[in-house]
Amino acid sequence: MRQLTPSATGVIQAAAHQMRKNGIEVFNFGTGDPILPNHPVILEFAERAIVEKMSPYAPFAGMTELRQAAADWMNRRYGSQFGIKETVVSCGGKFGIYAALQILLAQGEEVLVPAPYWVSYPEMVRLANGQPIILSAEETTNWKITPSEMLSRITPKTRVLLLNNACNPTGVLYTRQEISEILNVAKEANLMVISDEVYSEIVFDNAEFVSCSSFPEHRSRVIVIESCSKNFAMAGWRVGFAFGPAEVITNIIALQSQSTSGTSLISQQAALGALRHADEVSSYVRQAMDRRRKLFFQTYNQLFQTRIQPILSTLYYFAPIGKDSMKECEKILTEAHVALVPGIGFGVEGYVRFAFSEEEDLIEKGLKALQKFKRGLPYC
Ligand code: PLP
Repeated sequence: MRQLTPSATGVIQAAAHQMRKNGIEVFNFGTGDPILPNHPVILEFAERAIVEKMSPYAPFAGMTELRQAAADWMNRRYGSQFGIKETVVSCGGKFGIYAALQILLAQGEEVLVPAPYWVSYPEMVRLANGQPIILSAEETTNWKITPSEMLSRITPKTRVLLLNNACNPTGVLYTRQEISEILNVAKEANLMVISDEVYSEIVFDNAEFVSCSSFPEHRSRVIVIESCSKNFAMAGWRVGFAFGPAEVITNIIALQSQSTSGTSLISQQAALGALRHADEVSSYVRQAMDRRRKLFFQTYNQLFQTRIQPILSTLYYFAPIGKDSMKECEKILTEAHVALVPGIGFGVEGYVRFAFSEEEDLIEKGLKALQKFKRGLPYC
């Protein structure tokens, strides 16, 4: 049997779930799930699909209408030129990343993974018989990797760069210049780039989000992963997309045909509703998350006498704790009933990740519970 490490977010969630089952109130800063009622257009499209008894198998690649709507959404925002052949609907962005790695990697090939990384990347690379090569970024350099660090780790076996912009857990956004330099290094070394952009619309204070698909000269080497989970607050519907060169997408579709068979038609209709009104739905989500972001950082700074600047993207704050993060998270969960994710799950020790995507009153109550537990000690 293969020995797999379960997702770090999952471990703490399972412990929190057990506590809730035992009647204990747990404050959830663990999962980055924008807890919001679905926007009415999502429900309208889904309801119609249910009433029309839309329960046969979906096309393996996803509904043609949805693939076209998703490609149009990308092209409108980034000036890319994706068509249906360059677009596939997957079971969340997660399966898109998994599938792309399965298609691109041969036995023992290397994937550059900047750290902190999203929790599932290294294990996904191993599942594709590849080898993750971790490029550690530092808080002092704003958690970003540089072209020279990339160059120093490239070997003849390096095949893929797995970039996450905007980054979970740090909320860091790469600038146009930085992305351009990274893509130029990828070109020099003949790497494919999987660009995980599932937070593309969760960007605050008018900060600029730059997609790897906005560089036409790199079209043949870039696969962009997108999702409805965060941008449209639809995590449970399980709809994501991969965009890229037609030959890669054709292979991902073949992989889906031999594995998941794609995602449910009802979910796809719901996603079509979101994409037909994409700006309206993402601004509904962004505004709600912005209120929670402001409340989170204001309350945190007040309670712990800190002056942390609110992050510009995603749903997270990656907080330094300077300790064994797993032990600390277990202790905080048991004693303060607050669920956080240990930094070690993102490949960086000494930090914990807060998600501020829960409802407002829970954010306040949760931070107060944490302060009570840490009374007299600034948290960081
Ligand atoms: N990529 C990143 C960076 C994420 O944070 C997540 C979810 O937390 C995903 C991908 C997967 O999202 P989903 O499969 O829900 O689209």
